[in-house]
Amino acid sequence: MSNQAKERINTYEVAKKRLQKATEELALPASVYERLKDCDRVVEAALPVEMDGGTLRVFKGYRAQHNNVFGPYKGGVRFHPEVDLDEAKALSIWMTIKCAVARVPYGGGKGAVACDPLQMSAGEIERLSRQYIRAMAPVLGPHKDIPAPDVNTNAQVMAWMTDEYCNIQGYDALGVITGKPLEMGGSAGRETATGQGVMFSVREAAKIKGLDLKNATLAVQGYGNVGSATARFLAREGCKLIAVADIFGGVYDQDGLDAEALYRYCREKGTVKDFPGSKDSITTEELFALDCDIIVPAAMENQITPQVAQNIKAKIIGEGANGPTTPEADEILQEKDIFVVPDILANSGGVVTSYFEWVQNNYSYYWTAEEVAKRLELKMVEAFNHVYDYQRNFGKSITMREAAFMYALQRLADAMKIRGWIR
Ligand code: NAD
Repeated sequence: MSNQAKERINTYEVAKKRLQKATEELALPASVYERLKDCDRVVEAALPVEMDGGTLRVFKGYRAQHNNVFGPYKGGVRFHPEVDLDEAKALSIWMTIKCAVARVPYGGGKGAVACDPLQMSAGEIERLSRQYIRAMAPVLGPHKDIPAPDVNTNAQVMAWMTDEYCNIQGYDALGVITGKPLEMGGSAGRETATGQGVMFSVREAAKIKGLDLKNATLAVQGYGNVGSATARFLAREGCKLIAVADIFGGVYDQDGLDAEALYRYCREKGTVKDFPGSKDSITTEELFALDCDIIVPAAMENQITPQVAQNIKAKIIGEGANGPTTPEADEILQEKDIFVVPDILANSGGVVTSYFEWVQNNYSYYWTAEEVAKRLELKMVEAFNHVYDYQRNFGKSITMREAAFMYALQRLADAMKIRGWIR
């Protein structure tokens, strides 16, 4: 489903449309949209890598820097066979908006490499990661542009990238990248922060919906960094995890899957498929149509299409992934009165804790896991309430997504005006 949907939907066009709509709704000057519809800068680079067999392959790498009115560009690097420049640009717009919603002092950026890391050895991935930094180093820096993990990249990849950047500069510059391992300046809690943040935002939505998280049923699509952490954190809040699906397959048990046992199984096998603690297998389509209280899409963009949305029965959708819902599907979810915590709010725990990591790197003074979790909770609840209050006080009916966009856009417009970027 995802690939077909991606062919039809250009995420960059979707992002621009959302920006335009919010600009018009707020009656902001046209210059706001003109300034934000394009990226400040995009870099496209050829990344030659020697493969294990001795052959040379040249990969395409991208970095999109969208807007830096609030601070350095910030955003993950994605390794995926289907990425292109438009996707990186769309995701960099998302980051600008997300950082403005979360009130962290960053702009928006995003990186991508078109490759299939599932078919590559660790050595090949390391050489590719280092090559990416060699190509992008002139536009990166702790006060310029700060990458982080995203789909198919992790703390190890960030370690190689940071090491390469420090080698090039000839001095320690740990703040150039976040999501690093603890051993080289990572923050306690960063690896699970996005999922923990999704949990906090779903918890706030549940309060509004009058849904008790104890025994609320939960289904999660995508079981990587975000999906696995979200599933475990929500299970610790008492949710009953009934279904999980990843790219290889899905598992289902109406009586509840053991979230910790599933996590251990997936770490060992690299997939949730055939988890012995589950009663049945399940497809992604079936997962979205389940009779359950909460759904967390935590895989890729454009997974919730109108057809999928028609079948959703959940009360709350917590968007762990970026851009998982198409605009047409959004309208259906709104008609069905499903509470959607939009990506730019729900998954902002990752960038918030990246910000904490960067602060710790800059100070060379490190916080405990408890301190990080406490600060993350404060930031997530504060952001949720800003958006929810904005939605309620707007004067006409708008979705949480529209509220988040408008709240962010107003902040961006004010900051750009005061800096003299727009009149
Ligand atoms: P990941 O690579 O760790 O995991 C992705 C998961 O999705 C894997 O389990 C994969 O098998 C699954 N998947 C991919 N395509 C699928 C499909 N068609 N059907 C079912 N499952 C599928 O990636 P991640 O870091 O967890 O990122 C997931 C999403 O969250 C992305 O949209 C990413 O941009 C977003 N996000 C990530 C972070 C972060 O800190 N890592 C922060 C904010 C947002």
